[in-house]
This record gives sequence, structure tokens and C-alpha cells, in this order.
Amino acid sequence: MTPTLYNPKMENLSRAELRDLQLHKLQQLVVRVYEHSPYYRQKFDAHGVNPYQLKSLDDYRHYPFFDKDEERLSQERSKQELGHPFGMHVTCDPKLVNRISSSSGTTGSPTFSGFTRRDREIAAENCGRGMKRMGIEPGDVVLHASVISMWIAGMPAIDSMMAYGACVVPVGALSGVERVAQIASEVRPKMIRTTVSFARHMAKTMEAKTGIDPKALGIEKVVVTGEPGGSIREIYSEIEAGFGGALCYDNMGATGCHSPTGISCEAHSGIHFYAEDNAYFEIVDPKTLEPLPIEDGVEGEIIFTGLERECGPLLRWRDKDIIHITTSRCDCGRPGVRMAFKGRVDDMLLVKGVNVFPNAVRDVVNRLSPLTTGNVRLQKPAASAVVEPPVPLLVEVVAGLDDKALDKLSGDIVQAVHHQLRFRVVPVLMAEGEFEVRSGATGKMQLVEITGVPK
Ligand SMILES: [Zn+2]
Repeated sequence: MTPTLYNPKMENLSRAELRDLQLHKLQQLVVRVYEHSPYYRQKFDAHGVNPYQLKSLDDYRHYPFFDKDEERLSQERSKQELGHPFGMHVTCDPKLVNRISSSSGTTGSPTFSGFTRRDREIAAENCGRGMKRMGIEPGDVVLHASVISMWIAGMPAIDSMMAYGACVVPVGALSGVERVAQIASEVRPKMIRTTVSFARHMAKTMEAKTGIDPKALGIEKVVVTGEPGGSIREIYSEIEAGFGGALCYDNMGATGCHSPTGISCEAHSGIHFYAEDNAYFEIVDPKTLEPLPIEDGVEGEIIFTGLERECGPLLRWRDKDIIHITTSRCDCGRPGVRMAFKGRVDDMLLVKGVNVFPNAVRDVVNRLSPLTTGNVRLQKPAASAVVEPPVPLLVEVVAGLDDKALDKLSGDIVQAVHHQLRFRVVPVLMAEGEFEVRSGATGKMQLVEITGVPK
């Protein structure tokens, strides 16, 4: 069976065709930002790159990176000097900006992304590719149950799904499980779009809180976003079972490009990245930042360049996510390099020379035993990534376990983490309810806490 695609011409481009197209668009992009933005002109000149002489994708690796700190500074300056928050790196008339999205600001003051009408159109095109891959057609009812003010997963997702022609019901998530259950039972959505945590929360609590069984709502697809759980078997299986066998899809975006840019499939073998014609990505070694070849099994920090972004293009954006690449054909038959999220560069701990990703620790614990609830948090004494073993690990477990069961579980966790991730933890088991779940403004669960040095 040949899977249906929204834009078969672009989604089926060969690697060689993609490379040609990406180079062509990059050549136009570097010249455009150089000519329209004094900021980029100065930045390129300082780095000794000549935008009129970009001859290959290999030449592009010499261009400077862009990151969150630089974006924030650029936007602080433009607020002062230009009277708008789009940054000194803006390349369009601010009057053409059609929507502003703001980041959560959990790590400082918020940053802003402006979208022109054209920017919104490309985001809608990308969203259409994902919807078609999930079997959603125009007219199908989609319940949007994530916080509407979310940067990409909130209003922008609603905007794009409406442009695709879906019948969108933007109920949000702040109104709570009761409201979502009530609306869902009335409008009977084919798909629900939400965060990983809220999907799990609904699956666990909806029936007890409302008398409405999420299994009986007739929901066929649950799209999760914002957190990596949608590609972790224990988590998507739990969501699929909780919604009566609906298929769970993991959605990804690309900062500085036109999100969404990828969706997983029923084979659950990674997220197909389907937007390489407008979202150029590189994989670099997280230590040296040197580009790695895009081939099967390569792993490193992902760098994005939105090839057609009109407002405030971010060239060579350091996303700080570690991504694993799979290039072999997927069982589902759909095209697109597949990506798996491995962890955040900034969350990474260094324990006796071993790189530790907190989400990987959580996955090991969750796979180990049904006695754990899925909530864990590592503790470290200070902000530094370098941590001495054994590392305290808070683990929430189901209520009512006796000492013998707790001891055994504790030992199993130490062994499993040591065996699979090669460092030592000291588990601190906490009964359900005692563990305080902490999440940031975007709803992402906090997996590391700084406790301060014990006196
Ligand atoms: Zn697939």
C-alpha cells in the first residue's frame, strides 16, 4: 500500500534533489539576510563568510551559529532601538508581521517570534503534511487540548490545523479534565491534540472525575507534543490503551523554521521529518560543534535553518536537543529521515565522564517495574553539569508497598541504571502523592533539581 501524502512532490524528493534545493534556497537566504539586516551583515563580516560565494552545503558549515542568548540580546536591543521585539536580525517590514508568538520565558525574559502571512502559510503546509500522514482529512473534528498560549503547540497549531480545513475545537487544557471530557463527549472528535502529561492525566483520571470513559469517546488519534514521551513505548502504549486503542502520534517542530516539521507513524519507529525542503537541519558533535554526516545511526545536536522564514530568520540555530537519526526505510512506507530525541544538551549531567540524560534515567526506571508511576527527579547540589556519584534519584512508586518490596525495587533501580547508563544512583522511593510533580510554564516535567550543598 502506498501511503497518502499531502505534497508527494516535496515529501518524496531524493536526497540529491533535496540537497540541490536546500543549497539553492540557502544561497538566496544568506544574500537576503545580508542585504536586509545590518545585524547579519556585521555578523557575517565578523566571521569572514561571504554570502555571494556560498557554493556548497559544505561552505555553510563555516557560518556562525545563533542561540537563545543571542536571540534574547538581539530582541532587547530592537525593543530599545527599533521599537519592536523581533530582534535586530529582523529582515522584513514589521508591519508585515501577522502573528507574534512568545516563548515561555522559563530561563529568562520571553523571546518573540514574528510570523508574516507567508510564514503562516508554510507552517500550514507543513501541518497539512502531518495531518494527511495521520489520516486526518479536512472536515474531521479535532479537539485541541493543550494550553492555547503555548508558543508553537498552542494558537499556532490551531491556526495551521484550521488552514488545513480540519474542524478545530480549541478547548485548551487549563479548563481541566472535566471540561475536556464534557466537550469531547458532545463533539466526538476523531483526533485529540495535547501534551504527553495531559494525555496521561486524562487517561488516568477522566472516568473517576467525570464518569466519562475516555475509551468510549471514539477518539482514533491522540497527537502528543511538547515532551518526548510520545516516542517512548511505555508512555504511548499507556496513552493508546487509555483512549481505547487510539493511535498515539509524536509531533515535532523545528525552532526558527515553520513548525510542525515531523510526525511519527503507526510503526512507532521515530519521527518522520517531512519538511526538509523548507527546514534545513544539520547534526553536529555536541562538543566540537563540527557537522556529522547525515547517515543511519548518527547522533548529535541538531541545528536548524528555516530556509524561507521572512520575519527574523535564525540561521544555524542551536536547538540544544540531541537527536538520533535513522535513514533506512520505515515499515510504514512513508518517506522522511526519522528522528529520535535523546536529551537536552543543557540538562545533560556529567558523572565520572559519562554523559547522562535525565529523560533516559526516567525511561530506564519506567521500563523496569509497574510499581513506579513514571515520576522521577534527579538531585544535584549545584548548577554545574559535573556531578559526583552516587546521584540521588527521587522515584514515585505506587502506594502500599511493604519494606521488602521497596528494598527489592531500590536495588533493581540501582542495577538497571548502572547497567544501562553506566553511573550510580541512590533511589529515594516516595509513595504516590508524596512526590511533588514540578513542571515549567510549558508543562514540561522538571527532571533535575538543584538541592544546594548539604551543610
Ligand atoms: Zn513510519
